Amino acid sequence: MSNAIILDSTITCPVCGHRKNETMSLNSYLYFYECEHCHARLRPKEGDCCDL
Ligand SMILES: [Zn+2]
Repeated sequence: MSNAIILDSTITCPVCGHRKNETMSLNSYLYFYECEHCHARLRPKEGDCCDL
């Protein structure tokens, strides 16, 4: 076991429903994620509303 924290998560775009499996470090998890399908900017962290 290493000490690295890796989050393996599937992100579903709320705009177009496109799913992508992302492996993120804890740091990058805090940043915006851009949907590769419709290029909407998402926050992976839920509960922060809404800048669409
Ligand atoms: Zn999308």
